[in-house]
Amino acid sequence: MKYYYVCIECGSSYDISRDLMVCPRCSQKQEACEPLRGVLEVGIEGEFDKDFDIFDLLPVEKEYFPPIPVGGTPLWAPFNLRKKTGFSNLYIKDDSLNPTGSLKDRASFLVAAFAVREKIKDVVVASTGNAASSMAGIGAAAGLNIRIFIPAAAPRAKRVQSLQYGAEVVAVDGNYDRAYDLSMEYTKIHGGLSRNTAYNPLTIEGKKTAALEIFKQLSGAPDFMFIPTGDGVILGGVYKGFKDLMSAGLIDRIPTIYAVQARGSSAISRALEEGSFNKSYHSKTVADSIAVDIPRNGYFAIKYIKKYSGRCVEVEDMEIIRAQKELASTTGLFAEPAASASLAGFLKVKDEIPQDSKVVLLVTGSGLKDIETAIKGVI
Ligand SMILES: *Cc1c(COP(=O)(O)O)cnc(C)c1O
Repeated sequence: MKYYYVCIECGSSYDISRDLMVCPRCSQKQEACEPLRGVLEVGIEGEFDKDFDIFDLLPVEKEYFPPIPVGGTPLWAPFNLRKKTGFSNLYIKDDSLNPTGSLKDRASFLVAAFAVREKIKDVVVASTGNAASSMAGIGAAAGLNIRIFIPAAAPRAKRVQSLQYGAEVVAVDGNYDRAYDLSMEYTKIHGGLSRNTAYNPLTIEGKKTAALEIFKQLSGAPDFMFIPTGDGVILGGVYKGFKDLMSAGLIDRIPTIYAVQARGSSAISRALEEGSFNKSYHSKTVADSIAVDIPRNGYFAIKYIKKYSGRCVEVEDMEIIRAQKELASTTGLFAEPAASASLAGFLKVKDEIPQDSKVVLLVTGSGLKDIETAIKGVI
């Protein structure tokens, strides 16, 4: 297999290199307060059949991945929810079972492997919490030095988790966007590899493994998928995985994906409706992992939603809190609020979907990561 980068805006291709994060040409058009310009997608050349090894479809050789079991999460049938909703082919893909408790490990895993291969010791990331604790944990397994920039208001469990893994934690007085800017300044001055979501193209590519696994687990693609969406990197990554499968002739159709956003943090959904991103948008939601003002992967997400007839669904905070309790009490899966948005979104639009469809709810993070919000659903 041969791997390279392709700019999602101008289509130029580049060799994969530690010094290249965004398209040198298109990134010059970057304005403040808009999604990243010149985001790079990993291109693949080469053939593979349905028995592929997932590692063979990643742009870093298997031997460089750290010794920690990322991915390979279960896809299972929530029988009580099936009965309650009438959807007899409803599935849960439980990515809260990754080593650090969130889907973010898929991205950190690939970034860590790349750092090891390139002999880079220092990795820097800004995050609302999960990307930070994930990079800290996977980085610990890989023997890397991790520095994270995290809003001081991020859930305590995510901060403590990062400290336990031995990361340098910089608590930022401000939101995620401020943490992002500070982390970018830091790498500009001190070097190191940035794991900032969407900015490092491997963060998108790493998350495609969720789609590849679902394909293997269902022996095909589902009809519908629900994905909690903030920056749009999970959404973009899952689309990329299905796209690789389609290019290889293993599926003939991309699933209809619903990007589920909190009503108070719905930049991608609004941009799809309004035709452009609102530069002065301010997000507010209890689901901290999908709270973003500027969705970094917004252009990539919109491009694929349009190309593959995806949809957006906005859910209220109360619907998220109720879905969290419903998921936990009917299936035994305790997910964090952002991760419960998948179920909230599905419940909201299920009448638009044929009941015999194969539907996958992607559950992205563990409920133990944010107990303070979870309390709201049980009092
Ligand atoms: C990061 C995250 C999301 C959203 O992913 P984006 O790539 O920002 O859209 C959803 N759920 C959880 C638990 C996350 O950590």
